[in-house]
Amino acid sequence: MPQVVTTPGELRQLTAGWTASGQLVGLVPTMGSLHAGHLSLVTAAQRECDKVVVSIFINPLQFGAGEDYLRYPRQLDADLDVLADMGVDACYCPAVKTLYPEGFATRVEVDAGGELWEAERRPGHFSGVATVVTKLMAATGPGRAFFGEKDAQQAAVVDRLARDLDLGMVVTICPTVRDPDGLALSSRNLLLSVAGRRAARCLSRALAEASRQFTTGVTSGPELAAAASQLIEAESAARLDYAGVVDPTNFQPVSHAIAGSRVLVAAQVEGVHLIDTALLSSPPRPSR
Ligand code: AMP
Repeated sequence: MPQVVTTPGELRQLTAGWTASGQLVGLVPTMGSLHAGHLSLVTAAQRECDKVVVSIFINPLQFGAGEDYLRYPRQLDADLDVLADMGVDACYCPAVKTLYPEGFATRVEVDAGGELWEAERRPGHFSGVATVVTKLMAATGPGRAFFGEKDAQQAAVVDRLARDLDLGMVVTICPTVRDPDGLALSSRNLLLSVAGRRAARCLSRALAEASRQFTTGVTSGPELAAAASQLIEAESAARLDYAGVVDPTNFQPVSHAIAGSRVLVAAQVEGVHLIDTALLSSPPRPSR
């Protein structure tokens, strides 16, 4: 079993011992209900670090009113078994009142990732993420932290945060793990019915369609975004939130897409908020 710690003090003591003996500590922050996407981050952390801490904390600060905080899947015992099988060194799973005791009054705001997409759809979300990540970093003191590309806007916010606050930690972004049918793994997929899960494939299909059109010579950002939107709108069980083609560093929409531009999509399926993203990779062939 990983060493289970529930307070920042215990965690700091543990990781300080490792760091003092020259070991590199890696942190993988999660909200639990672990799947192969999370585990790919753990594997990357184990490859690059001497000791790996996985945090499991469903952070109320990053959920807006009316979002799915209460019904977000929770399965700590099963998660600990998975982490034990993987040989993870420690699991940090604090209670909400431990991280946010009465009187808690601090918010971390990061001016990165733009005001669009998830930032626009979920006001306060990235501030909630930045606040909890700062607390996790302060307690762990990792040399490296691992995040998934699926949440690309979040990863950009965290990378900026780590640089701006001199957290002395390298942020590594790992590729999205998908089911064979293309659906990006997400703990929220557990909230979908069989039919909903099938409908959710429209997100990865929308990314594939934008990529396909790009390789056939379509380089207009709005046109590629419209192609992705149309695919999602054609799925009756999905409600499009947004589709955009953006600059991968500042998340601003691009009028002219190039290889390396990022496509972002989001939709609601059965009331579940799902997001996905991909980089446009192949250089476009000139259209005839
Ligand atoms: P979450 O538990 O959803 O907050 O995710 C924890 C971390 O796992 C975040 O850095 C996510 O970007 C990452 N993650 C979630 N889903 C995937 C996936 N399908 N592939 C790779 N990383 C993922």
